[in-house]
Amino acid sequence: MAAQETVEHKYVYDFAEGNKDLKDLLGGKGANLAEMTNLGLPVPPGFTITTEACQAYLASGEQPAGLADQIAAHLAALEQGMGRRLGDPDDPLLVSVRSGAKFSMPGMMETVLNVGLNDRSVVGLAAQANGNQRFAWDSYRRLIQMFGKTVCEVPGEEFEHAIDEAKRAKGSTDDLDLDADDLRALVDTYKKIFSKHTGREFPQDPREQLDLAIGAVFDSWNAERAVIYRRQERIPADLGTAVNVVAMVFGNLGPDSGTGVAFTRDPASGAQGIYGDYLANAQGEDVVAGIRNTVPLQELERINKAAYDELLDYMARLERHYKDLCDIEFTIERGKLWMLQTRVGKRTAAAAFVIAGQLVDEGLIDLDEALHRVNGAQLAQLMFPRFQLDHGFEAVATGIGASPGAAVGKVVFTSARAVELAGQGEDVILVRRETNPDDLNGMIASRGILTSRGGKTSHAAVVARGMGKTCVSGADALDIDVPKRRFTVAGQTVTEGDVVSIDGTTGKVYLGEVPATPSEVVQYFEGELDPEATDDALVRAVHRIMSHADATRRLTVRTNADTAADAARARRFGAQGIGLCRTEHMFLGDRRELVERLILARDANERDESLAALLPLQRADFVEIFRAMDGQPVTVRLIDPPLHEFLPPLEQLAVDVAVAQERGEDVAKEEALLAAVRRMHEENPMLGLRGVRLGLVIPGLFAMQVRAITEAAVECTRQGVRACPEIMVPLVGAVQELETVRTEAEKIIAEVVGGSDVEVLIGTMIEVPRAALTAGQIAEAAEFFSFGTNDLTQMGWGFSRDDVEGAFFWRYLELGIFGISPFESIDADGIGRLVRIAAEEGRAARPGLKLGVCGEHGGDPDSVHFFHSVGLDYVSCSPFRVPVARLEAGRAAVVTAGSDSR
Ligand code: ADP
Ligand code: MG
Ligand code: MG
Repeated sequence: MAAQETVEHKYVYDFAEGNKDLKDLLGGKGANLAEMTNLGLPVPPGFTITTEACQAYLASGEQPAGLADQIAAHLAALEQGMGRRLGDPDDPLLVSVRSGAKFSMPGMMETVLNVGLNDRSVVGLAAQANGNQRFAWDSYRRLIQMFGKTVCEVPGEEFEHAIDEAKRAKGSTDDLDLDADDLRALVDTYKKIFSKHTGREFPQDPREQLDLAIGAVFDSWNAERAVIYRRQERIPADLGTAVNVVAMVFGNLGPDSGTGVAFTRDPASGAQGIYGDYLANAQGEDVVAGIRNTVPLQELERINKAAYDELLDYMARLERHYKDLCDIEFTIERGKLWMLQTRVGKRTAAAAFVIAGQLVDEGLIDLDEALHRVNGAQLAQLMFPRFQLDHGFEAVATGIGASPGAAVGKVVFTSARAVELAGQGEDVILVRRETNPDDLNGMIASRGILTSRGGKTSHAAVVARGMGKTCVSGADALDIDVPKRRFTVAGQTVTEGDVVSIDGTTGKVYLGEVPATPSEVVQYFEGELDPEATDDALVRAVHRIMSHADATRRLTVRTNADTAADAARARRFGAQGIGLCRTEHMFLGDRRELVERLILARDANERDESLAALLPLQRADFVEIFRAMDGQPVTVRLIDPPLHEFLPPLEQLAVDVAVAQERGEDVAKEEALLAAVRRMHEENPMLGLRGVRLGLVIPGLFAMQVRAITEAAVECTRQGVRACPEIMVPLVGAVQELETVRTEAEKIIAEVVGGSDVEVLIGTMIEVPRAALTAGQIAEAAEFFSFGTNDLTQMGWGFSRDDVEGAFFWRYLELGIFGISPFESIDADGIGRLVRIAAEEGRAARPGLKLGVCGEHGGDPDSVHFFHSVGLDYVSCSPFRVPVARLEAGRAAVVTAGSDSR
């Protein structure tokens, strides 16, 4: 009988067999341990059990066939290499069992060190360590503690309480004051804690310890915290984790041993130098756990010059090899350096730019790669004022960093009060349980918004982000009492007028005034800082990378601006035109009365009179805007909102009229207004008489605007300013609507332009799904399309933004129905498909059709990448987002080898 030879699936890799590109299979930690091993760095030997083994284990509930044997074989090889056996009573090999997924994840099982120690091998360990009993018993108590806590779910506080007791009995707070006898006694106590909670003795069989620890790492993949984290970060649930089994090296063997962490550059500022912490006579976690005071890594030079020099050499090699900032864990055992971990290190937004710039200077990466390594979210963060580092304030609460920035101001609890105090020149922070559309004015008046409820998609968060205003949402430690105008937090009461500081990046809330600094990056964009002359490394790096983005991108970036001031600012920020100039505000303010007359007009005469009075006012507005944008295109949207939005609210008017009637005053005018408001009331204003529909129903309205725009352009041209107006008709769903408007507009334009050198384009918004689906027809009458993705999203999904964001988006996000609000990032599959269809069919019907987007998505990083991929000509966004869009448009255009950006 011939034995059937089967090729067994390989579940275990020796460190020498892996490399840094095998993160999917070996996890980040395992892949990088392998890489360091192959670079010849001193890594303690070991092996990695793959994520595939974990996946198989989680799918079936048991170890896949062959895994146990493969572990045994690799363990045997490790034992042979080390000349010791796992848990040998005389000379034990000890190992650590370390989890390591592709992405590091809080909530995953931590490491268990010193696996292989038991009542017998602890004696052998002491003998091998020149009789160092203290070291052996310290290692054993650590094993029971870590194993108990992470493998068997024994409450960690009980161990901590026991060691604190032992220290107290010695009159000390330092674990180094516990001697061998104390630690031996502590091991007894720990064992009792262990058996009390698990109903069994601490396992003495080294292989059983190892297997239980490996199984616990696998299981921890599905621990609740890990699951929640993955959902938030959109990490696929089926990746699984790898497990690393590593021969122990000991930093707790005495003063010539120790353990530390190091960064190859400062992860906060990006500055070059030596950054890290070292702790003598300590093991693993002690450095970060803060049980004793660490010393700056530089001190290691004094303690052990040879090891220090060697470490610096490895750090330099790792940086050159990974071409990026690395963070490192190491241990020194009796003077000898061991490398225990490295990875491309996390960094702040500022450090990301600075480091990318430095690496280009050093010739390690090119500008494309530098551009790839930063992102728009980081740039946006850098554009807000921020609190100074080391400000020394303690946060009283932490909510969600919903909209970045640093805001300081007096607490107010109502919108009305916010408006009032802001009017007196005060900085205010609006504090609400949650906000709603009635709070809009208060939000505009405030420096920042702080709520105790709601997440990243709450009304407060979404509106604040739209306004570029700092917001911390969901700070649930705040107990807010609006009627009493106060809140309590951390045992303190804060009343109206008290000063608080909120950090919209970290979500932290402070009492009092935390000192803030303005953003140097904004100063640079404003032209106040010369990037060639400044010694500010961040500004230099931002300038360099932005210049490369501008040179690389295919998308043009325009801005949404309604006033000359906004337009001028956006232009300084790099805008290349206006993609959306709303004309609504041109009907407000001191023009309200004219607009009321227009709406209430009883006949054509009255109507034409009011329109004629509005004409010069609007023309003057356009002149200013064209001047600010001299030579760049300006897309002007004809009046869009329903006219009743320009009248007082029904309830208020009804009360006013009733009161006035009671007093016997003459209310003929108010009554007429009230009647008009009643008549114009709509159940669904969003889907009512607005946009192009207004233009078709109210004779002369659009004509007046078209005339004002064209006359302004002609006037500018006469004065030597080049005006490039693009007239945009909103809410078109059928080509006939656009044609009707167009025929009238063309007549006016031809008449006004006469012989002068002015060109006026006519195009439409694509924001009604039917428009997207009939784009081929619509393009016959349009010289450009501008996708209004806010309305397109509302109508495409069939929900009204103001209603849904507070009502159920949180649930949809929780359930994973969306990963992110479709108002924040374009829904590429659905709404994005409408954009794609319209772009393709529009261009097919009219080659050279200009395509842009003017919804808020124009400034959202992911959406910018999508619009690039669809082949639009430009994106348009609020002035503050223009640099973000420029950067992301550049990033979308570069194709690099690409590293994981997480
Ligand atoms: P984490 O993922 O939380 O960083 P690690 O697996 O890196 O967990 O281990 C925690 C600590 O234990 C680290 O300080 C690490 O350097 C140390 N450590 C891990 N394995 C060993 C080992 N074989 N010898 C000595 N120290 C180790
Ligand atoms: Mg680590
Ligand atoms: Mg719209």
